[in-house]
Amino acid sequence: MKAVLITIGDEILSGNTIDTNSNFIASQLKEIGIPVVQIFTVADTLDSIRKTLETAHQLGDIIITTGGLGPTKDDKTKTAFAEFFNDKLVLDDPTFEHLRKIFIKRNREHLLEINRNQAVVLSKATIFQNENGSAPCQMIQENGKITICLPGVPYEVKPLIKDKIIPFLKHQLSLHYIESQIISVVNFPESLLALKIEDWELALPKNISLSYLPIGNRVKLRLTATGNHLDELKSQLKIEAEKLKPLIGEKVISWNGNEIQEILKEILIQKKLTLSSAESCTGGELARLITSVSGSSKYFLGGIIPYDYHQKISILGVSEKTISEKTVVSAEVAQEMSLGGQKLFKTDISIATTGVSGPNSDEFNNEIGTVFYSIRVKNFEKTNRLFLPHLERNDFANFVSQRVLQDLIEMIIQEEH
Ligand code: ATP
Ligand code: MG
Repeated sequence: MKAVLITIGDEILSGNTIDTNSNFIASQLKEIGIPVVQIFTVADTLDSIRKTLETAHQLGDIIITTGGLGPTKDDKTKTAFAEFFNDKLVLDDPTFEHLRKIFIKRNREHLLEINRNQAVVLSKATIFQNENGSAPCQMIQENGKITICLPGVPYEVKPLIKDKIIPFLKHQLSLHYIESQIISVVNFPESLLALKIEDWELALPKNISLSYLPIGNRVKLRLTATGNHLDELKSQLKIEAEKLKPLIGEKVISWNGNEIQEILKEILIQKKLTLSSAESCTGGELARLITSVSGSSKYFLGGIIPYDYHQKISILGVSEKTISEKTVVSAEVAQEMSLGGQKLFKTDISIATTGVSGPNSDEFNNEIGTVFYSIRVKNFEKTNRLFLPHLERNDFANFVSQRVLQDLIEMIIQEEH
């Protein structure tokens, strides 16, 4: 069973919109064992949509499109589908009723004629109502293929895929259960890690596969088990993970967690530790990552961004002398920032960053890409330097933040021993 994705829209071709839909859909399909073999991006024209549908049907069994389902003239997907499937467009009463309810919920009384058009669907299609927008998702099953069109807006696409399409495909295709576990290994180069666990990997049961997902200097080992009994898969994974403990146990910061901020949440809640941040060069990215997890208010008390060095002095109590002697991008300033942050927020843990992300140098002529970060866990403090001259500003802030959180987790785990 193979899938092909088609993203429709001039704004993607022109570079104005980044295609995040394909990324999301492909990863969701992968979770249920359906590989995406090709992704197309096409213009909002009848011709290009129809032709691409033809090619996609030669390449795959499941074809999913996003975009171009709106009520405006530039939205051509429905018409292209009607031509491709030799179908007609008809007004669908349940969809119209659904639209009316959505309009009432949004306190908009009148359904305009243009909105009525959104309840016009392919006569052969099965409809999946869109709870977050007005264009429904439609599906046609013909000649052993499943073709689905979705709206373009990502917050409409995500729940449609997750809550409706994936369960439908699982049921329709009688798919096996798929269970995975992600083990996070740090400070172990991928190639050496592969050597160390080679025998274990070779001895894995046939229904379990392993993939390496490196992120910064963390390697995520993803074990994926497929089979007919979910409980069996879970216990199989547990047994295999257990075997890894004597081999790489001390380098593992999490036995089942994906994002670094989720791993952090688990450990901080378990240890009842509170956290705050004082960020300069990461500009709030640390706080953003931490607070992207629901429930983070239980341990993250707050953060500040004293970007200008006078603010570092007045808010965090960094000494003017340290700045003039060592410059603002220095281990000493990072240490004083984390100390100031810890006092300001009265937290067990405080993290601080200072650096030059470029492209311009700072007023002290520090080398672009230099970062110092300080992590304070109660009375323990650790400072590190990173040098990342090639990263664009956003990637720089994200890389540093991921690394700080990773080091923090390591530090807490090490303290146990
Ligand atoms: P609408 O009813 O809002 O017109 P639609 O189904 O017609 O929805 P489009 O008009 O193609 O969809 O896209 C709506 C918006 O959704 C776009 O402006 C864009 O911001 C976003 N979008 C569309 N396709 C993608 C995509 N592949 N990845 C991320 N965002 C997308
Ligand atoms: Mg549109």
